[in-house]
Amino acid sequence: MNVQLCYSDAYARETEARVVAVEAAATSLVVLDSTVFYPGGGGQPPDRGILLRAADGRAWTVTAARKSGGEIVHELEAGVEPPEVGDRLRVDLDWTRRYALMRTHTALHALCGVVWRDYGALVTGGNMEPGAGRMDFEFERLGADLVGEIEASVNAELARARDVRVKSLPRDEAFAIPDLIRTKVNLLPAGIEEIRTIEIVGLDLQADGGTHVANTREVGGIRVTGYESKGRINKRIRIELTGPR
Ligand SMILES: [Zn+2]
Repeated sequence: MNVQLCYSDAYARETEARVVAVEAAATSLVVLDSTVFYPGGGGQPPDRGILLRAADGRAWTVTAARKSGGEIVHELEAGVEPPEVGDRLRVDLDWTRRYALMRTHTALHALCGVVWRDYGALVTGGNMEPGAGRMDFEFERLGADLVGEIEASVNAELARARDVRVKSLPRDEAFAIPDLIRTKVNLLPAGIEEIRTIEIVGLDLQADGGTHVANTREVGGIRVTGYESKGRINKRIRIELTGPR
């Protein structure tokens, strides 16, 4: 399997790689022996970036990535001839976009942690783009009165400069952590032996495959931009990042 740096080092923004497989098509697909691209999942969209061939300086725009048979596959912009198997490339992320996603993703964990700790509400789903995102909760009594309170609590937690830790745990060990059950770890396929966990130390612990910043101070702050009912019990909270980084 190719080396997938996004899971071990979210701050890796470039690497050297060799092309191991190519599928030439209207939108060509490229598999590399090593990559920094995140293939998408868990509400976080896949990365974008470029591949640069050292030999002649030719560059390809990668518009998306995804997992296929365990490998991370890069999708090239439509209508271009792909590189060849064996080519040596530099793999370069659109780092501005990825880092905004890391901050946004971490902010959503902080939101999740606060809503669970203070109101006991379970998260049921989420989605994000760079700088903004939403989470759905089983949160019957969410109303305007609570929204301001939640926003203030999340910002207070982010300002505490809490470390964010990534671990990989054996399945049995992960399943024994009560906090993980609320993020539907029990829905993971039976074949998965290792569970990756993301902990905002002192606030939140989740099973998760995405990329996050290393400390909540990197997020800055958030603003709740809206909330809506998706039914009597299910509520959606929308946030955006505030302040420059
Ligand atoms: Zn996450």
